[in-house]
Amino acid sequence: VNGAVELCYSKISEPDEIRNINTKLLIVADGAKSDTRNLLGIESTTKDYGQVAIVSNITLSQNHNNIAYERFTDSGPLAMLPLRKIEGHNRSALVWTVFPAQAQKLLALTEADFLNELQLAFGFRLGKFTGASRRHSYPVRLTTSKEQVRSNIVVVGNAAHALHPVAGQGFNLALRDIAALTDILAKSVTEGKILGEYRVLENYIKHQKIDQNRTIFLSDFLPTVFGSTSLLVKVSEKYWACGVRFYSIAKKKFRKNGYGSAH
Ligand SMILES: Cc1cc2nc3c(=O)[nH]c(=O)nc-3n(C[C@H](O)[C@H](O)[C@H](O)COP(=O)(O)OP(=O)(O)OC[C@H]3O[C@@H](n4cnc5c(N)ncnc54)[C@H](O)[C@@H]3O)c2cc1C
Repeated sequence: VNGAVELCYSKISEPDEIRNINTKLLIVADGAKSDTRNLLGIESTTKDYGQVAIVSNITLSQNHNNIAYERFTDSGPLAMLPLRKIEGHNRSALVWTVFPAQAQKLLALTEADFLNELQLAFGFRLGKFTGASRRHSYPVRLTTSKEQVRSNIVVVGNAAHALHPVAGQGFNLALRDIAALTDILAKSVTEGKILGEYRVLENYIKHQKIDQNRTIFLSDFLPTVFGSTSLLVKVSEKYWACGVRFYSIAKKKFRKNGYGSAH
């Protein structure tokens, strides 16, 4: 209304106390299921990969040397991402993508049996797995918001695009979105434009859509290729793996995106 958004909200702990906010720019960042996006009537599309991601922090018998590993299994990717030591323990964060029935079994196992299964699937590149923190699981989906900008409103992060974790790109993409948005907003303010003006926000999304589409394509393409068991796909998988390993330019770009520094 008049170049601003008016919001009424209450805290979950104080549901009867209604508060008002009047703002020139509302940034919606409340995750893939975003209630705010839904309340604004912004539609989203969801693609279910029919997979579940099991996450847990794993204690290792040897140092990970800050190396992230990813194994491509028939049920989906298995990633071990380096974490900081706690009380002298080497640790990596596990993201293990499996079919739902397999997930149920893995979640029901004792810690020792779970570690055995994980060791079988991953191998001994990180030594012996000696402990697993509490396991959590998430359905793996690609959710994209049909609109990301309206006058005085911008949708970011998982609320705008929640990706398959295969390439570890969701948070990195969100950071690049925010970097682009803040650059464009800062420039528009110095040019005397109104914060939240549609044309300014439209510039942001026009600029950032290229990066978003490329990253969404990559995170959607990888599980499709590596998740299939057909011979044809297995052959492409072999060549793709070779490509990622040996083609240094592609490798550099992949890494740069992984660090969230590509722009
Ligand atoms: C298994 C897994 C592994 C991943 N690994 C990687 C990786 O290696 N690298 C990478 O870049 N990305 C990774 N991601 C993606 C990354 O987690 C997301 O991209 C990132 O969390 C998005 O941040 P966000 O703040 O937009 O959303 P979220 O992290 O979902 O945060 C939204 C926040 O909003 C809060 N919220 C919601 N509703 C309300 C409300 N009404 N009031 C107040 N607060 C509210 C929620 O509590 C939540 O804290 C992974 C994701 C998964 C599931």
